[in-house]
Amino acid sequence: MNIQLSQSSVAVIGAGIAGLACATELVSLGYQVTMFDKGRNPGGRIATRRLAESSFNHGAQFANARGEDFGKLIVRLAVEGHMAHWPAASGKRDIVWVGAPSMNALPRAMMAELAAKGCRLLNQTHVGWVSADRKLSLFPAAATSPGFVSRLGGEVVGPFDAVVLAMPSPQAVTLLAAAGHRFAAELARARYAPCWSVMASFSQRCDAPDLIRSDTAPLAWISRNSSRPGQPNSPETWVMHASAKWSRDNLEENSSEVARLLLEQFVAVTGQRSAPEILQAHRWRYALVEQALDKPCLWDEATRIGACGDFCLGPRIESAFDSGHTLAGVMHKVSQKQDLF
Ligand SMILES: Cc1cc2nc3c(=O)[nH]c(=O)nc-3n(C[C@H](O)[C@H](O)[C@H](O)COP(=O)(O)OP(=O)(O)OC[C@H]3O[C@@H](n4cnc5c(N)ncnc54)[C@H](O)[C@@H]3O)c2cc1C
Repeated sequence: MNIQLSQSSVAVIGAGIAGLACATELVSLGYQVTMFDKGRNPGGRIATRRLAESSFNHGAQFANARGEDFGKLIVRLAVEGHMAHWPAASGKRDIVWVGAPSMNALPRAMMAELAAKGCRLLNQTHVGWVSADRKLSLFPAAATSPGFVSRLGGEVVGPFDAVVLAMPSPQAVTLLAAAGHRFAAELARARYAPCWSVMASFSQRCDAPDLIRSDTAPLAWISRNSSRPGQPNSPETWVMHASAKWSRDNLEENSSEVARLLLEQFVAVTGQRSAPEILQAHRWRYALVEQALDKPCLWDEATRIGACGDFCLGPRIESAFDSGHTLAGVMHKVSQKQDLF
């Protein structure tokens, strides 16, 4: 991997919306930021998967912008054509924003702006551990399994002047385990619900509403993915999310069986008669925050390690954004006061 680091740099681990928001603010304040993500693309749970000729938004479905900072970003990206309204999901108290043509347009646009300002993303790079003196161990993501990354090893980089963990709290706990960091106990207070998501395409259109939600059925969310702005109407594509309860009860089930079981539910609800041309399930082990820390971010001055993400404020894209944005401000304040980095 052989990574060249500049002096006075900040490592942001996780290029989901929290990590992107944190990096955006740090870069605008003049810091040198390097991002690391085990995924192929930025976005984390704001995800789009391409299968055959279709693209499916199998993670976050839409964003609301209730606060000023996220609102400004979304409006600017909408003007540039990266975000749009999705009429099928509107009608609630908030305006519903989606990436155009797919959800990953939002993280891609943010990453493109960061890259233009010199921020590097090392993708497909799994960080195995973070030490208390801000060194990281890196593994090529393709080579990793949970057992593999838990061993001390990999290419060691750093020390960085500060390190930000921007990922679901259970994953941050694993990263800090070797350092015995005091955050581990605090991070463990947050709780996530899992979610099985199924992507399906059909050659025939069925006569069902574009969006069906339920609080009680095994399928909590069924949406016609092809009704999103900028999506071709044909073939007809659908995304369905199992409820937290069903997902938890079936967490270790194999993905083909999950796809089959949830397709049965889908057919019962929508009356779709044709067989799916594409059918694939994806498990989100940490999908929606059930219990947040109720504080905007975590920052430890002694080690200069911070943490941000939806686990801080709640189960929404905007909460994760606010957490990352706030952490960057806290770091800047400390850095200015103490001339640390
Ligand atoms: C199925 C589903 C539906 C949802 N629907 C909505 C919705 O409609 N509206 C809404 O507002 N929110 C929704 N959400 C929630 C929303 O997606 C999240 O709250 C938000 O995207 C979290 O962003 P984040 O940056 O905190 O974490 P993430 O998006 O999870 O980003 C964390 C990043 O860290 C990386 N990472 C983790 N560990 C490592 C490591 N060791 N080394 C390197 N990289 C690592 C991951 O690859 C990932 O890219 C949904 C989520 C799911 C799963």
